[in-house]
Amino acid sequence: MIERRPMIAGNWKMYTDIFESVNLVKAVSAGLRGDEEVDVLVAPPFTNLSVAKPFAENARILLAAQNMHWEESGAFTGEISGPMLRAAGCTHVILGHSERRHIFRETDEDVNRKAQAAARSGLIPIVCIGETLEEREAGKTFAVIERQLAGSLSAFLVGGDLPAGTILAYEPVWAIGTGRTATPAQAQDVHQAIRSWLTERFGGAVSGRTRVLYGGSVKPDNITDLMSEPDIDGVLVGGASLKAESFLGIVHYRK
Ligand code: PEP
Repeated sequence: MIERRPMIAGNWKMYTDIFESVNLVKAVSAGLRGDEEVDVLVAPPFTNLSVAKPFAENARILLAAQNMHWEESGAFTGEISGPMLRAAGCTHVILGHSERRHIFRETDEDVNRKAQAAARSGLIPIVCIGETLEEREAGKTFAVIERQLAGSLSAFLVGGDLPAGTILAYEPVWAIGTGRTATPAQAQDVHQAIRSWLTERFGGAVSGRTRVLYGGSVKPDNITDLMSEPDIDGVLVGGASLKAESFLGIVHYRK
């Protein structure tokens, strides 16, 4: 069986200024023991990336951006490109987060273009997908997930391969920032469907190596049960990643 090293990722959203970001990276780094056997990643706001980088690097914490533009440069006021994120020290970029999709009206096609651009820039995309409560209650969860996967990864489907390291994050919209977590069984059902979809479209090798994270109100007290599911390869954490203590409680889920 292919080993998928667990990943614990923190999305800091539009929280933390430069000083708070550095302090948080330092506090997380101070709490790491070195025997975690997980990849730890944080995604501070754009302005804080390059300042946080040396502190993250020292602790082998991976650095991600929360979004990017699909062009490399140009007259796109207010946008940030993949090469800029690479130069700031990022290895990863979160794409298609539900807040981007719902507040900023990002479409699957936007995410697809960004994912291609990320790969061209040498950034590993973390592609987020997830259904709303209305869609779940209408029994449309799997249809929505499949539509988002096919749309957000359409360029890679044409090529028949996913860029090495590509990560997917299943984040049911109704569980993000609400305190309402999917049960481990609910999450596993969707993760298993995502894994089957990957196998059908890209083959067993890609499916076996692709990490699928769960996100939605993950806390130190629910992480262990989530991580015991076979197709949950880690978590993307919002609120609980903003305090070193709770984030470390999640990182140390094996105790
Ligand atoms: C997120 O923003 O990706 C997220 C999962 O948030 P929270 O953990 O606060 O639900």
